[in-house]
Amino acid sequence: MTIQAPPVRPAGQASPVRPAGHASPARPAGARSLSGVDTWVFDLDNTLYPSSCNLFAQVDRRIGEFIAEYFGLPYEEARAKQKKYFREHGTSLRGLMVEHDIDPVPFLEYVHDIDVTPVEPSERLARALDALPGRKLVYTNGSVRHAENILARLGVEGRFEAVFDIVAAGYVPKPDPRPYRTLVERHGVEPTRAVMVEDIARNLAPAAALGMTTVWLRTDADWSRPDGGGVGHGDHIHHVVDDLIDWLEAGAPPVL
Ligand SMILES: [Mg+2]
Repeated sequence: MTIQAPPVRPAGQASPVRPAGHASPARPAGARSLSGVDTWVFDLDNTLYPSSCNLFAQVDRRIGEFIAEYFGLPYEEARAKQKKYFREHGTSLRGLMVEHDIDPVPFLEYVHDIDVTPVEPSERLARALDALPGRKLVYTNGSVRHAENILARLGVEGRFEAVFDIVAAGYVPKPDPRPYRTLVERHGVEPTRAVMVEDIARNLAPAAALGMTTVWLRTDADWSRPDGGGVGHGDHIHHVVDDLIDWLEAGAPPVL
């Protein structure tokens, strides 16, 4: 079987722990001040929990299973179709909707029906979010149900004003700029007073273009990097962080 899941840091191999007070060592020159921020927009997967949990491998497999069942295909052929749509449309769901007009609801229900126990409950994250001034939103290419499952498992339910999911986005995934504008309008976000935190660097470009301050949560995965695998940072990356909770605990949030 061909594994489509992107490479991630192996389970148990934590990112380097930074000394207290030095939690943002890789912040690029010219990083923006975070003073005056009143809205925090967090990506969900591999941002609010570590990429080492590798939940995407489960989702990835279930997408293949769904396509196999839907079209009556052998699994390997379904995987080829899945990859083709991912390449051509950004997500497999988008390809299935555009090419075959499938109903996205049963798709989302099936592919997100996963075991979330690899995600560890995190009192540290809960405390860090509680200490963060301003409101918090989740912005995910997944579903509300998936987000609620993850937030409950983490033990941070109730910390977020809303989840802006792929349904709210009109099934147009990040990094298409259109749903970012919808998010801003629907939730009354003033981009110049908002921060977006995300593990996939390219997903921050539309946020920066709107005027948001961006925080890239760096992982080892090539596909998450600004240049797709090399070194350097895109202009749309304002802060680079290796460990979200360390960074929040070190006082990344400014005095408002
Ligand atoms: Mg993510």
